[in-house]
Amino acid sequence: MLLTISTTHKPATELGYLLHKHPDRCQTFHLAFGKAHVFYPEANDERCVSCLLLDVDPVGLVRGKGNWKDGLLDQYVNDRPFVASSLMSVAISQVFGSALSGKSKERVEFVDQEIPLTARIDVLPVRGARNVSPGEMLERMFGPLGYAITATRHPLDDKFPEWGESPYYSVELQQSTTVAKLLQHLYVLIPVFDGKKHYYIGPDEVEKLLSKGETWLSDHPEKATITRRYLSKRQSLVRQALARLVEEEANESEDEEPSTDVAPTPQTERELSLHEQRLGAVLAAIRSSGARRVIDLGCGEGKLLRELLADQQFTEILGMDVSVRSLEIAHRRLKLDRLPERQRERIRLMHGALTYRDERLANFDAAAIVEVIEHLDPPRLAAFERVVFEHARPRTVVLTTPNREYNVVWESLPAGEMRHSDHRFEWTRAEFEDWAGGVAERFGYSVRYLPVGPEEAEVGAPSQMAVFDKCNEV
Ligand code: SAH
Repeated sequence: MLLTISTTHKPATELGYLLHKHPDRCQTFHLAFGKAHVFYPEANDERCVSCLLLDVDPVGLVRGKGNWKDGLLDQYVNDRPFVASSLMSVAISQVFGSALSGKSKERVEFVDQEIPLTARIDVLPVRGARNVSPGEMLERMFGPLGYAITATRHPLDDKFPEWGESPYYSVELQQSTTVAKLLQHLYVLIPVFDGKKHYYIGPDEVEKLLSKGETWLSDHPEKATITRRYLSKRQSLVRQALARLVEEEANESEDEEPSTDVAPTPQTERELSLHEQRLGAVLAAIRSSGARRVIDLGCGEGKLLRELLADQQFTEILGMDVSVRSLEIAHRRLKLDRLPERQRERIRLMHGALTYRDERLANFDAAAIVEVIEHLDPPRLAAFERVVFEHARPRTVVLTTPNREYNVVWESLPAGEMRHSDHRFEWTRAEFEDWAGGVAERFGYSVRYLPVGPEEAEVGAPSQMAVFDKCNEV
């Protein structure tokens, strides 16, 4: 069976970098059930076509396994070598593993970019469901993900038209998307169409499903069918996966900070988590500034945006982040697709980096920058300062960052370590005030500092906040 992925994005040969497979070479990979070949029948600036061809060994597939229930001959004579099935998903993950997880060594800036992509599957066995024809099933699975679908159904045998149609389709899917997302959709959905897996379905399949479906599955109208079929109807696993998908949708933030909780406390009695306190403090500062148009810089998965959206004081809300994945999660958690139009008009998400001047950030009343600066490399801080305080230049800037002095309070945090593996620095209160004071002076702002979270006598509070107000300009 053959999976063809092509693009007309220019220069199209960049597809080779995204798939980590050189367009000039034909490569062969040895998998447990046969071989996978990757080659490019066409690769030029205008168009690049990459093929993944599976060469399944039907004998190898059966050897040592007693799990084909349909009789002796069926073990050897069946459609498995010729159709796209769970074998194709295994091949995708083994041959295009980095691309599937959205990584690219050589094209870091390009992996998140949506490019025109076409995937063609020859051939896909499609099972319908009660009252759902196979053609409609294709539509229901790929349609909500935004694909334009062209499907050709093959007859059982050209020579005997009276035998009727087969369940086999050639399917072409088209959309501007990222290569990672396309592969994740195919990885999950290909085996869903025929619902037969060639291997034992254990709990790790739930993890695979949820990780490959992370940015889209909980929002998919057919998530129950997808989950049921993907997990070959293993009831307990299906229940587990569905519960987690629903939970994910409703999920509140997880705290970045190490937990000091001894025993789990019921939700009603639970003290507000540090992050909730922090968001509350930021929100209060923004509200009292009288701002109506607000930007959340490094908005992550949109926790503050949700609070802003709930308050009608804010008429225009813009969330910006460098991580497309976080923006997608924010989009889903905020249910932007389902908001009534008047609410929807108040909020936008945008991809951007805080270290590059960006005109879209100008003319806002207030900016929130919550737990972001410690993710920037210190040499980039000067660029960040100019982007925010010189060019975007909102009236009020509310910024939080960890207070390093407090780290000793967390017993679970080894001495000297930072709270998060991606933190480039964590400042003491003096270091923070030193930096923020300098910024205020250089850019014409006044600044005040507030502790966030429970204060300890010696080391202060876990988080620190600075509120900058623009001085009157003459
Ligand atoms: N403000 C959010 C997220 C904090 S995590 C919250 O409080 O929940 C830090 C966020 O900063 C991440 O989402 C990360 O993607 C983003 N970030 C890191 N460097 C960035 C940069 N240069 N430009 C924009 N966002 C950045």
